[in-house]
Amino acid sequence: MGSNIRYRRILLKVSGEALMGSQGFGIDVSVADRIAADIREAREMGVEISVVIGGGNIFRGVAVASKGGDRVTGDHMGMLATVINALALRTSLVKLGVDAVVLSAIAMPEICESFSQLKALAHQAAGRVVIFAGGTGNPFFTTDSAGALRAAEMGAAALFKATMVDGIYSADPKLVPDAVRYETLTHNDVLSQGLAVMDVAAVALTRENKIPIIVFSIHEKGELARILSGGGRSTVVSD
Ligand code: UDP
Repeated sequence: MGSNIRYRRILLKVSGEALMGSQGFGIDVSVADRIAADIREAREMGVEISVVIGGGNIFRGVAVASKGGDRVTGDHMGMLATVINALALRTSLVKLGVDAVVLSAIAMPEICESFSQLKALAHQAAGRVVIFAGGTGNPFFTTDSAGALRAAEMGAAALFKATMVDGIYSADPKLVPDAVRYETLTHNDVLSQGLAVMDVAAVALTRENKIPIIVFSIHEKGELARILSGGGRSTVVSD
């Protein structure tokens, strides 16, 4: 099926905020179900897909640090939040009949498997959607950096960064109505222009490993499949 598929193996980065839908906090199960349906559609095209999930809908470490608390503890709390989201996404995928597994960078064997690259590759080869939880397992990092890291470890042909808008703009399109959407950029453009798409560590890691970043809107149902088939709207960051 689908000889014109652009990328055969991808890593999808979904922020925690994407899961909360229009709620101000937590998980909107109908949104998780919709994202799961998009993942299933991509799977059915024969694309191997693994997911890094964020935790910002529940907790961010900076929230503790900004109130005088300990940043490292805050980041531990943020990483735990990503596990909650990963379990929710797995539940949505399983409901749709998609075999999925959660691998956490922080061991919690009663709840999910611990991450190792070999285990992750074996699950992927067995046709499962691998959901990476716990970020990189280290404080002071983000799940965007985890996305870049896991994309490299999984041999992904592209890192799909799911956002609220359909690409990278010259300015925030919600604030600046005539902001321009870029079709393509280089990793260096993103870094030198300070474009707020992923943190510097994530962009540098993808640059080093020659992994393109595809920035697209997760709110457009079916957009992931459209982009994989050569259509849709996105910004492609590559060298
Ligand atoms: N986090 C961390 N190390 C990581 C990834 C995440 O400490 O490798 C913590 C950090 O506190 C972060 C929170 O987990 O604020 C949630 O992740 P992130 O903000 O990246 O989630 P997203 O913005 O994608 O929802």
